Amino acid sequence: MPAAAAGPEIERLIQLLARLPGLGPRSARRAALFLIKKREQIMAPLAAAMHTALEKIEVCRVCGNIDSQNPCTVCTDVRRERAHAVNARYHVLGGTLSPLDGIGPEDLSIDALVSRVHAPAVTEVILALNATVDGQTTAHYITDLLHDANVKVTRLAHGVPVGGELDYLDEGTLSAAIRQRTTF
Ligand SMILES: [Zn+2]
Repeated sequence: MPAAAAGPEIERLIQLLARLPGLGPRSARRAALFLIKKREQIMAPLAAAMHTALEKIEVCRVCGNIDSQNPCTVCTDVRRERAHAVNARYHVLGGTLSPLDGIGPEDLSIDALVSRVHAPAVTEVILALNATVDGQTTAHYITDLLHDANVKVTRLAHGVPVGGELDYLDEGTLSAAIRQRTTF
């Protein structure tokens, strides 16, 4: 028999968990029951980690990266470059447009990107988005917004598998993909 969950505190916990991306009411209830069951092992350290994150972690005011310093570690160290292929700065969107998950342009740092791109030094924007439907939708959306910005808009070419996510690529693959980028 499944554990019964009642009381306003539990309902509140379930309601908040249900607002996380990818969690519906059913999985939120399961997660809440799991947390309550694993009170010492999971719930207490998770609550502490969330509290620390709330106090320490910020969204970088320049690029949208998340870090415990602002501007972030990447923006304050100009030599740091994961792909080693181009002289570039990062801008983290914080996700992709996803109407099904309720993620619209205002949830991503697209406005900040557009204003950064209008700086005179910027000549090109390389869209390094996942080769997924959401990633490509986001790429088209941004390309449209930048069409009067007087910059070349390119995207990653070879090396990124169709349906693949950038997080799983090794640096060589990512480098090749950036070198062989094509105009959008
Ligand atoms: Zn930054």
